Amino acid sequence: MKREDVLRSTPYPMLIGGREVASVSGKTFATYDPSNGRKLADVCEAGPEDVDRAVAAAYDAFHGPWRDVLPKDRSRMLMKLARLLESKVEAMSWLECYDAGKPIAASRAWLNGAPGTLEYYAGILLGLAGETLDVSDRTLFDYTVREPLGVCGLIVPWNFPLSIALLKMAPALAAGNCVVVKPSEVTPLSTVELGTLVAEAGFPPGVVNIVNGPGDPVGMALVRDPRVAKISFTGGTVTGKKIFREAASTVKRLTLELGGKSASLVFADADLGKAVGVAYNDMVRNSGQVCGACTRLLLHESIADAFIEALAAKLRPLRIGLPDDPATEMGPLVSPVQLARVTDYLEIGRNEGANIESYSDPRSRPELAGGCYIAPTLIRGATNAMRVAREEIFGPVLTVIRFGSEEEAVRIANDSSYGLAACVFTSDASRAMRMTRSLSAGTVCVNTGVRSSVDAPFGGFRESGLGKERGKEALLDDTQIKNVRYGLA
Ligand code: NDP
Repeated sequence: MKREDVLRSTPYPMLIGGREVASVSGKTFATYDPSNGRKLADVCEAGPEDVDRAVAAAYDAFHGPWRDVLPKDRSRMLMKLARLLESKVEAMSWLECYDAGKPIAASRAWLNGAPGTLEYYAGILLGLAGETLDVSDRTLFDYTVREPLGVCGLIVPWNFPLSIALLKMAPALAAGNCVVVKPSEVTPLSTVELGTLVAEAGFPPGVVNIVNGPGDPVGMALVRDPRVAKISFTGGTVTGKKIFREAASTVKRLTLELGGKSASLVFADADLGKAVGVAYNDMVRNSGQVCGACTRLLLHESIADAFIEALAAKLRPLRIGLPDDPATEMGPLVSPVQLARVTDYLEIGRNEGANIESYSDPRSRPELAGGCYIAPTLIRGATNAMRVAREEIFGPVLTVIRFGSEEEAVRIANDSSYGLAACVFTSDASRAMRMTRSLSAGTVCVNTGVRSSVDAPFGGFRESGLGKERGKEALLDDTQIKNVRYGLA
């Protein structure tokens, strides 16, 4: 679909109290196509009074009509939203192709799965229940009830805009909460379009609200608002820590899905073809802008050279190109800011003494010169002490480290302030089981890459975050337990 077929010509509005509205100030900001730097659309920018209106609408809906909606009716609304979204997947895929620079084939593949997020929570919410407790006092009948939290502020990043918005919205609504969503100002368009489907799905006004604008002040206003009971945030660890600190003053519930520097451990007895395929995918998928990607490639010294050769051979013919070309396998990074960040890290690696090896030169191609393109790059000869091995780079870049023994591999993998995920490639089942015990990360994958799905919990250890997204855990994290003690005597 062409740009003019999917883009609005008027500013993208906010959704407050069931209505598409402009900001009180009338202010707008622009979004840009990262493949050519051209302006795509104007978007209404929330000021403090708009965030206040959105939170008030969510608060009133929670204490009004939404509270009495039966679980089976919440489930039906989520299913209806899934069907409506399904009919828009093609348009949404193109919107994210232009707004986030995603190759259209990949964008379509990711968003085809998006209705499934709503369906999963529509299903499991029907099993949400408390317990009766056989307490040690016969004068009491004691039970627990799982209640919603109230208003949830959902702060969404730019790497998978609609998918992550849904991963936060679906469990929050399934649990009976109302939400105020803040998409990234870099990629707000698909989330605004999702908002147009909410009323048709049957959600009462105010249950879902969307405010656009920069993280600070718009997202931060949600974090500070005492009427907001929970913040669910996905993004960088630096911003996550700021939110953690600010949320303390109103003791908010938090789900933080932060950065990663996950390790992939490839042993000499591994299926090298498979492990190379996963490393390739971790570089190329979404141009490496994936929190769960294994960006530290730990190779046993006996197979390291052959591995790098095979990976380089796969990377050389990679089709880097314009996102709207169906043949494109890797597009640009999301923004000039992200391009500058990744480029800086390559310079840091060089200064730290590592070898920087790129496998193509997209910036020399005139048709890509105006976009945020960067070549897939390996940082070789690295040690785990280097910044390029310790900090998240978030681009098509892997840091390669060699190891000699199993113990050394585990020590390097766990020596990180992050703990989001890890992968192990080996044909020795005992070693694989030892690794699943020894590796300190929220997801450990054996002989496969980190592939998250809505029905399994995902969330990191240490500075990779708090709580879980996906799975039944995300639904439970959006509830609180009330204990009822009924006096019988
Ligand atoms: P941020 O963490 O700053 O942004 C993520 C979301 O938080 C966006 O919606 C952003 O809004 C919002 N935000 C930013 N600052 C605040 C704040 N003070 N209070 C409330 N909300 C805020 O990520 P960046 O875009 O700056 O990227 C930095 C790094 O973070 C990347 O290089 C990458 O390493 C990591 N990252 C990790 C992601 C993941 O999936 N875990 C996703 C994205 C980034 P807005 O964009 O409108 O400013």
